[in-house]
Amino acid sequence: MMTAVVRVDRTHPEPAAILRAAACLRRGGLVAFPTETVYGLGAHALDPTAVRRLFDAKGRPSTDPLIVHVAGLDEAAALTTGMPAVAALLARQFWPGPLTLVMRRAAVVPAEVTAGLDTVAIRVPAHPVAQALLAAARLPVAAPSANLFSRPSPTRAEHVLDDLRGRIDLVLDAGPTPVGVESTVLDLTVDPPVVLRFGAIDLESLRRVVPRVQATPPAAAGGAMPSPGLLPQHYSPRTPLTLCRGDAASFAEVVSRTMAEGRRVGVLATSEDAAALGHTPTAVADLGSGHDARGVAARLYAALRELDAAQLDVILVRDFPRDDGLWRALRDRLRRAAARTM
Ligand code: AMP
Ligand code: MG
Repeated sequence: MMTAVVRVDRTHPEPAAILRAAACLRRGGLVAFPTETVYGLGAHALDPTAVRRLFDAKGRPSTDPLIVHVAGLDEAAALTTGMPAVAALLARQFWPGPLTLVMRRAAVVPAEVTAGLDTVAIRVPAHPVAQALLAAARLPVAAPSANLFSRPSPTRAEHVLDDLRGRIDLVLDAGPTPVGVESTVLDLTVDPPVVLRFGAIDLESLRRVVPRVQATPPAAAGGAMPSPGLLPQHYSPRTPLTLCRGDAASFAEVVSRTMAEGRRVGVLATSEDAAALGHTPTAVADLGSGHDARGVAARLYAALRELDAAQLDVILVRDFPRDDGLWRALRDRLRRAAARTM
């Protein structure tokens, strides 16, 4: 299969490009497109064949349900049996935006989309290209991240092509995605609502709208995942990544010691931590200031992929010292990317 790459303006996407992508989706094709979080791999959500093709292209286990992207609240309501009142409240505050709501599935949603669960995950993306595509396709679009299963999510079209060239029909390339980490997934089928995956909307913001939101995702049991983002090994580079606890000085020591073993060492670090290193590793990916969670989020996956391409023996990263706001999601991603923790 030839994968077409179509450049689009990120704020005013060219109608011809959008119509081409929408027609491809309507025919059951696979289209990667930018959302505000990461690039998604879209398929017609009501077409089981298209959805199965999507799982195949990603190498994603069919037990791992997909997020359905829709144009607005009415389109979301059509996919659920009775929206809870709290959904409308949250939608008013956070949609369009990076909040995914898990609700009861309506019969129109194929079991393939939800991995056989009786719930469905839905969001309204804010990226102008995603919005234009949904408006033109006039369909719900199932769209997991456009990477090969378990690899870091793609924040640029080049990342999508590195993983999926020849496996999908088309990529809409609108440059880097602004947020860089996935949506927050909130389960509204239980009361109080529970965060299944930390993401771009932080817990504090959710609790300002719904104070009883809980932050304890259930441990993934066998069978269908309550939330695919909960798979322990996820978002990971191929190069083994070691997550180091402790302060910047002890991290610098770990880096020096590992280099002294003659290994090719890559370091993923905030600018401050990078400046505190005693020796210069083979490769350093700078995440920007450790005071800027948004900047770190925007760079994280691209930095992981950059180090992964540098033929290193090991990637070392110091755990972020904060747990508030977006840091919670960022620490979660480091933990899932790590082969080991020390
Ligand atoms: P991604 O591949 O990054 O788009 O991940 C898809 C996300 O969808 C997972 O992290 C889950 O949290 C979420 N998800 C999809 N469907 C469901 C569902 N029915 N119940 C719970 N979580 C879901
Ligand atoms: Mg994913």
